[in-house]
Amino acid sequence: MADGLSAPAAAAATAASLDDYAAVVGASELAEIRALAQRLAGRSVKMVNSTSVGGGVAEILNRLVPLLNEAGLPCAWDVITGGDDFFEVTKAFHNALHGAPYDAPPQAFDTFLAYNEKNLRAHSFDSEFVVIHDPQPIGLVKARDSRPAHWVWRCHIDVSNPNRAVWDFLAQFIQHYDAMIISSPSFTRPLPVPQYLFFPSIDPLSQKNQALDPAFVQKTLERFSIDPKRPILTQISRFDRLKDPVGVIKAYKLARKYKDCQLVLAGGGAADDPEGGQVLSEAHAAAGKDPDIHILELPPWSALEINALQQASTIIIQKSLREGFGLTVTEALWKKKPVIAGAVGGIPLQIIHKLTGVLAHSVEGTAYQIRFLLSHPEIAKRLGENGREHVRENFLITTNLKRYLLLFLTLSNA
Ligand code: UDP
Repeated sequence: MADGLSAPAAAAATAASLDDYAAVVGASELAEIRALAQRLAGRSVKMVNSTSVGGGVAEILNRLVPLLNEAGLPCAWDVITGGDDFFEVTKAFHNALHGAPYDAPPQAFDTFLAYNEKNLRAHSFDSEFVVIHDPQPIGLVKARDSRPAHWVWRCHIDVSNPNRAVWDFLAQFIQHYDAMIISSPSFTRPLPVPQYLFFPSIDPLSQKNQALDPAFVQKTLERFSIDPKRPILTQISRFDRLKDPVGVIKAYKLARKYKDCQLVLAGGGAADDPEGGQVLSEAHAAAGKDPDIHILELPPWSALEINALQQASTIIIQKSLREGFGLTVTEALWKKKPVIAGAVGGIPLQIIHKLTGVLAHSVEGTAYQIRFLLSHPEIAKRLGENGREHVRENFLITTNLKRYLLLFLTLSNA
């Protein structure tokens, strides 16, 4: 960790306050946020998800929760707990909702319900607004009682083509919510609940996204034995089959026949994802002994290192096969990087083909785009510049914050 601080201490030391965002989004945006929050005075929020580190949801909540508090709306964040058996089931549900074949055994639903019941007893819900993130804690809505409260289910997954059995199981809970939030218009479902479109967001002032001292970037490359003088292709992701790390290696190997480059696959695990170890082994097997493939396992407090790797990259790849949104794409665009990404889920909202990046549909397509962008640095540069403005307009945490405040106002008729 830089400066010898522990990860939480370093994060606290550098966390931005609301006023700091004026430099990025303008003072009027902050005035709107404060005015909206004022109308919600006296109310409070609880957010619930299934992991405090690893993955995009934790990344967003880590900043959204303190900013809601600072804006004047007290917001608590609870993380549910579960055994390996629970997270194996929820990961299978996750893959099935993304369209993977899954023949759900009846005990999977029993395990899911048993852990939701256990968490129901461990958490209290006296806030006026409760936001439950993703399927894992969805059953907590049973805690709804006669107190006036508004329950929102925030779905971060691409549910446009879900496994029927898993979706029907979740739908029985969703109908007890007041609203559902989705990340892309294509994720709407026929449901008796209003559905709101919120784009996920990044924090431009966080350790993950702030400008870095070039010396730190250089040192990070040295630390991981990456050559700063040769092109660097990077995918930052949990080791998850839907992020297709093996497909990235295959694309790199094809492109490498024509253009000199190195590949960095960097990522850690998430507490609610039990498949990481297996996928990591698959990536090592596919990489073989190529000294230019760097597979880096990063601990959860690696925001600065991830930032440095992104900033040092010539091209960022996100070759997902399914993706709710892909914050790693947002992070790369914010750093003005040319991005090659799978044309799936929420990614095309961010990557407008040939304007803010390029979309790919296969290993061969990804390899082609790598060769093309390495051969046309001026086009790559323009894509990155456009990408940053697209993020500024649509995918920053201040917009997300405002969107939540507006939803709370709408739900409570304040
Ligand atoms: N991330 C991280 N460490 C890792 C891998 C990913 O901090 O080892 C971060 C990444 O920078 C991004 C988030 O986790 O902020 C991943 O979000 P995304 O929406 O891309 O994918 P998810 O993991 O939620 O499917």
